[in-house]
This record gives sequence, structure tokens and C-alpha cells, in this order.
Amino acid sequence: MAYISELVLVINCGSSSLKFSVIPASGGGPLASGLAECLGRPEARIVLKSADTKTVNSLHGGSHDSALAAILRYLAEQRLLDRIVVVGHRVVHGGERFSASALVTPEVIADIEAVAALAPLHNPANLLGIRACAQGLPAIPQVVVFDTAFHQTIAAAAFTYAIPQRLYRDQGVRRYGFHGTSHRYIAGQTVELLRLDPQDHGIVIAHLGNGASATAVSNGESVDTTMGMTPLEGLVMGTRSGDIDFGVVAHVARTNRLSLDEVETMLNTQSGLLGISELSGDCRALEQAAQAGHPGAILALDVFVHRLARHIGGLAASLDNFDALVFTGGIGENSALLRAKTIESLRVFGFTLNREANERTVGGRSGRISRSRRPTAIVIPTDEEGLIARDATAILGISPSGGFPAQPSDLHIA
Ligand code: ADP
Repeated sequence: MAYISELVLVINCGSSSLKFSVIPASGGGPLASGLAECLGRPEARIVLKSADTKTVNSLHGGSHDSALAAILRYLAEQRLLDRIVVVGHRVVHGGERFSASALVTPEVIADIEAVAALAPLHNPANLLGIRACAQGLPAIPQVVVFDTAFHQTIAAAAFTYAIPQRLYRDQGVRRYGFHGTSHRYIAGQTVELLRLDPQDHGIVIAHLGNGASATAVSNGESVDTTMGMTPLEGLVMGTRSGDIDFGVVAHVARTNRLSLDEVETMLNTQSGLLGISELSGDCRALEQAAQAGHPGAILALDVFVHRLARHIGGLAASLDNFDALVFTGGIGENSALLRAKTIESLRVFGFTLNREANERTVGGRSGRISRSRRPTAIVIPTDEEGLIARDATAILGISPSGGFPAQPSDLHIA
């Protein structure tokens, strides 16, 4: 049983950034949070927030260790440091080794290092955070929560690339899927909020943020998802292309004399909504521009919706029944426009939009946005940090497993 005063430090470490939040072990919103950016560069800085204060400090070119030191000083000032009982880390790739969260041990660190070949930008950055915490908080246990773990239930028919199988056997080349923490949280919330049978339900979750992926969940398990071996496959994203004919990659590399690394960078950082609109990768900015008649913004949003609807249709093929389509992530939680367009594109499944409910279900609200009941369409705000905190405390045996209580909502479902 968690004591009211016990806290979890949740860390999400990127190659030049470190996000944190401090969450009560008994559940609930963060008591403090922040973001260190541009680590290792002269402009490195850290934003620190608590209930009523926000400060921005220079890190004077410092890296992950200095960011963590600044966070620990801040938590000591806020009288939160002594109450931290566990650190929960987001780790991007767990390969086939991790189908659940794990307590950090030397073996677990070696396994995360071994998987790093599949996620060379992400896993080494995640390990930097784990090592910084091991140094800064040597007495506190650490837990790792993997983006890929929830998708380890996907069958070979859905995870296999149609390429020579020695690449899978020797190097683990297959589809893994990401955003698993969000998809798992939302799957649990959907079952609770819609009172679905935990043993007999089918849902499709569209997690739409700067990165975007959709997942089919059957009876609590991920059965197919749109991202692949890397987070580049699938939906159109802020700056990532999503699915693309490899013939295009070869052609672009050849005719523009680009290396494969250069084309990969183009597909990850200059494509997606940004590449199509030639304006921005930010959905909100594109909605405003589209309203003002910007043709690139209009096309970018149309392609985004077309690809999303097409993938949702494909994912439904992995379900025995289609109870609900769930929108989450910054775009899914806030863009009534893109949700409306997507639902309208999916009328073949019997979806009908509830315009008023769709318009008002924004800004962190959850609720049903379709008139159709089965399949229904709903919005649920995601809470990846909350689920990481819950996994961390469950592994330590200081909280029961099972979801955090459902957020208050206006879902009234008989
Ligand atoms: P990340 O994947 O980085 O966590 P988020 O989940 O925060 O990203 O989602 C960011 C996306 O959500 C951006 O494209 C942003 O424009 C979009 N977004 C946020 N608020 C709105 C809004 N009110 N209307 C439309 N899009 C929004």
C-alpha cells in the first residue's frame, strides 16, 4: 500500500532533452515537472514548474548530469526529494526482450544496450537518464517502462516484413510498434469508461501527437499497430513521412545524390505535415492557415486524415468486433476538425458524428463524440507519465496493479 507522502520521479530522456515529473505513488497529477532542453549546447536551459511557480534557468552548456543535478536541487527546495521512493524511466525500444516494465539491474541495462542497434538515437539517450539517476539518487530503485512492450502480443502475421527472414533471425528486423504506454493506458480507460467486457472487446486507438500511431486492441491486447521497427512507419506525423514506397527513397537518393542517412533525416525531420504544407508541422498552426485558405495547409490536413482513416480501416480487420475508436494525444484530444473529418471518412463502419459533443470535447476533456453507439467514437486524454509511475510503484509492490481510477468524464453509457 502506498503512503500518501510517497512520490515517483518520472524521467523521459532524449538525446538533448530531459523531461521529468513528480507524481504521488497513490496516483493523481504531478506535484512538480519540467523540461531541460538543448543539453550539451551553450543555450542549454531548464524549465522547472510546481503548482504556483515556474522558473527558467541556464544550465551553462551542461548535459544530462547537470540537468538532473538541477532537478534534484529544485526538488530538495520544494521539500519533495526525500519523499521519492522510485524513479520510472521511459525507454523507447525494448525489442523482443521486454514485454513488460522491469526493475533496473545490470542485466536489464545490458539488454537495453543490446537493443540499442534498433533505436540508435533513443536507447542510448534513455540510458544516459538511467545512469544520471543511478549517480544522483544511488539509494533509489529505478524501473524502466518500454514504448514497445505493449505490442509484444502482436502475432507474426502482423509483425513480419516481407523481406528475407535471415534479417529477422540475425538482426531482429521486424515491426515492433511504439507509444505502447499511451495505447495501454487508453485501452484500460476505454474498457472502464465504456464498461466493455474485458474479455470481449475490440477498439482502435489513434494516438495523434507530433508522433502519431494507431493500434488495434482486442480483449486488452495489442494485435496490430501502425509504427514499425522504427517510429517512422505508418501515419503522417508532424515532420515524419509515415509509410512510403521504398522505390521513392531509392529514387530520391539516386537523383539528388543523397546518402541513405540524408534521406532518412529528410523523412524524419522535413516531411509529414511540415513537408506537405511547406509551412509548419504543427497541427494548430495548419488549421489556422487552412482556414485562411493556405493550399499547402489544406492539402497537409487532407493527407493526414486520408492516411489515418485508411489505417483505422486496416486495423479494424484485426478485430473480432469494433466497439470503439478512441482519439488521444495533442491532436486527438484537441482537434475537433481532424476528428470530424476522420469520422466522416469512416462512415462505411457506421460512424456518425455528434457535432456539438465533438466541438466541446477538447482541452483535456473525455467524452463520446459520435451518435453511433457501436462502433462509437470517443476522446480520452492520455497519461503516459501516470502509467509509468503506476508501473514503477507496482513493481516495487507499493501499489496494486490495475489502472489509475478513471478520470472524471461526461461519458454516460448504459
Ligand atoms: P508529442 O507527440 O510531442 O507529445 P503532443 O501530444 O503534445 O505531441 O501533440 C502536439 C500536437 O498537438 C501539435 O501538432 C499541436 O499543434 C497539436 N495541438 C495541440 N493543441 C491543439 C489544438 N487546440 N488544435 C489543434 N491541434 C492542437
